[in-house]
Amino acid sequence: MVQITISVKIFMVILMHGKFETKIIHEGEYQNKHGDATMPIHLSSTFIKPNLDTSQEFEYSRAGNPSRSLVEKKLAILENAKFALAFSSGLAAETVALLTLLKPGDHMIAFDDLYGGTKRLFDKIFKEKFKIHVDYVDLTKIDNLKSAIQENTKLIWIETPTNPLLKVCDINKISKLKKNSLVLVDNTFLSPYFQNPLELGADIVLHSTTKYINGHSDSIGGAIMVNDSSLYDSLKFNQNATGAILSPFDSFLVARGIKTLAIRMEKHQENALKIAHFLETHQKIKKVIYPGLKSHPQFEIVKKQFKGYAGIISFEILGTKEKLNLFLNNLKIFKLAESLGGVESLINVPSLMTHAYLSEKERNDIGINDNLMRLSIGIENVEDLIQDLDIALKSV
Ligand SMILES: *Cc1c(COP(=O)(O)O)cnc(C)c1O
Repeated sequence: MVQITISVKIFMVILMHGKFETKIIHEGEYQNKHGDATMPIHLSSTFIKPNLDTSQEFEYSRAGNPSRSLVEKKLAILENAKFALAFSSGLAAETVALLTLLKPGDHMIAFDDLYGGTKRLFDKIFKEKFKIHVDYVDLTKIDNLKSAIQENTKLIWIETPTNPLLKVCDINKISKLKKNSLVLVDNTFLSPYFQNPLELGADIVLHSTTKYINGHSDSIGGAIMVNDSSLYDSLKFNQNATGAILSPFDSFLVARGIKTLAIRMEKHQENALKIAHFLETHQKIKKVIYPGLKSHPQFEIVKKQFKGYAGIISFEILGTKEKLNLFLNNLKIFKLAESLGGVESLINVPSLMTHAYLSEKERNDIGINDNLMRLSIGIENVEDLIQDLDIALKSV
């Protein structure tokens, strides 16, 4: 019995020094007395106190829960961060971040090409109701930041690559120019496997775990990772105060998804590169945007900053609206749906789906025209995927 305990301890010590792929699988597991190889789901809403004087790690599940605590440990490892928090959605994480970092009258700078729901949260709630001043700036050019930043700029909010135009900005340069503000990076599109903003100088990383981190299109969730302990304390306080927590069952799903993140991301990228090259030379395609292509407008930043390109490709198809419908209707494997980052391949028409809430003028100003399509490349057989696109394009 004594021997077993000792060997388990040595085992844990070795694991803590392992590399990313090793640590995300083992971190936080094997902690219960039954010897479960994976942490069971802790559904209990409350935890019994042995007596009034004893303090314990878990008391009430909104404040802390073993399943959430496990996934938060794994999430921290993903971004090589000291701390992580798991939320009920990406937007819940964003809401808690904004409530924690800003007060009425503060100024913030945001990248001009953002996830639709993020922009809606800024414009309809934080601008209108809480009097936060938001300036949308094209941060692909660093000089634009220099002229936009003010003394009361508290936050610079970036997404890179952006959705759906996959614009890329230089996290390290932005972090050096930030003055009194904090830099928050929504790292959903590349996943922590391909980009680590904290290592590039950012203060806060945010994810919609709904996408690549969970990876199976069966859970909505969000995460925030930071290194600063007082920032972590405030975020954790607000996570509990607002109740925007990831449920135990979703925590289990996300923790499970994380274990295969590395191999999934490799496959998403391998497939996407082949498909981007296929589309690039296709007669019926006007333009392909993928960070792994030399033609990407910010390819120099990509080479320096990304560890890989992930699986999102945007492209413009030649032809009328009727032709677009024909193309979409002839796809068999790619399914027409919002969201991204799952094992299955999806196609989205931003002007009619994810970005439909923008006016036509706003869409045109950013460059989202009616013929733009966004693919989320899954981990299916790539020849099947190319054939599916090829047949549908022939029908156009
Ligand atoms: C999906 C998404 C979000 C919002 O996340 P939810 O989990 O849907 O609330 C935020 N940012 C990006 C880049 C996203 O793709």
